Amino acid sequence: MKKSPQTALIHSDYTPPDGFAAFAPAIHHASTVLFDNVAALRASGWKDKRSYTYGLHGTPTTFTLEAKLAAIDGGSFCLLAPSGLSAIAMINLGLLKSGDDVLLPDNVYAPNRELGRWLASDFGISARYYDPMADIAGQILPTTRLIWAEAPGSVTMEVPDLPAICRAAHARGVLVALDNTWSGGLLLNGFEHGVDIVMQALTKYQSGGSDVLMGAVITRERALNDRLALAHMRLGLGVSADDAYLVLRGLPSMKLRLQAHDAGARAVAAWLAARPEIARVLHPAFADCPGHAHWQRDFRGAGGLFSVVFDARYSEAQTDRLVDALTLFGIGYSWGGAHSLAVPYRMQAMRTGWEGAGTLLRLYIGLEEPADLIADLAQALATL
Ligand SMILES: *Cc1c(COP(=O)(O)O)cnc(C)c1O
Repeated sequence: MKKSPQTALIHSDYTPPDGFAAFAPAIHHASTVLFDNVAALRASGWKDKRSYTYGLHGTPTTFTLEAKLAAIDGGSFCLLAPSGLSAIAMINLGLLKSGDDVLLPDNVYAPNRELGRWLASDFGISARYYDPMADIAGQILPTTRLIWAEAPGSVTMEVPDLPAICRAAHARGVLVALDNTWSGGLLLNGFEHGVDIVMQALTKYQSGGSDVLMGAVITRERALNDRLALAHMRLGLGVSADDAYLVLRGLPSMKLRLQAHDAGARAVAAWLAARPEIARVLHPAFADCPGHAHWQRDFRGAGGLFSVVFDARYSEAQTDRLVDALTLFGIGYSWGGAHSLAVPYRMQAMRTGWEGAGTLLRLYIGLEEPADLIADLAQALATL
């Protein structure tokens, strides 16, 4: 059919020939997805991952990423969300309803704690916090539906006894969700230790670029995935094709990056442990980290993230000046990219019963030469 120029702006007779092949997945941008005919439209459902219904429900780009992420964590199903936090929200909203109870570790990722506060104040869900290192069995109520675990806690680094938490939960028919961001899924297989749902902030190691936000929810059981997929659909949690591509581009190097972060972080942490200004090094691979034995038993390595606690004789003003004096460490939240980062935390405001008055500084070791990072820390420590 002959087209007017206005229509030619929109429609084309060109069909790409078959036979183009490349390693990089195609970036499919779509809100509207086209059907061959009305019968195909009528026959299609949003749940079906072998066909396409609407950009929000998936494209070849996002389905490729989901399949890879499910396999990395040893799961069968994966749902993508526009941030790690929205993946957490999908789990809470998909599995909890008014009258239910959720248990969160006291060292949980702070915005998950904040979400718990909201569920409790406005949605009739009770959210309670447990000591990640204590036996959880006595805290489970008849109304408890979900227990969160984080391994290790991403600021204070306690490594919980994940199999024990899962055993206690399953004995009472309660689901366990693991925030597995610290290990990127390569260093800890949550399902092997009994968890039902794994959550990842792909913003971190999977993307590896400090330039994209995304999250994932991974499961093994179809019925559980279906409950979460319903929340995913009802909340309209889509991700952009370009962002999905960035994460796909980061994945092939993730294992090598993790090994480099791990080696760098252990070198820097060992150096800091010997310094008189540092009261404690909180790194799961170090013997005095709470839960070190659990890390040794369950993990295949460590990443780039750990914390140190300064000796209490240094004021917050002094340790803030020290952080400002660092030249190779950026001051900022999140982690997982090539650049090292430092963030001081006020633990008394974050944790019930936190002992020790010294400033806690969380360090993320990027891909710089560890000796240069140590030299930078040495000149900054001299400001004390
Ligand atoms: C960063 C992070 C999240 C949230 O990820 P965003 O993509 O920043 O929303 C959740 N849990 C942990 C442990 C994280 O480090």
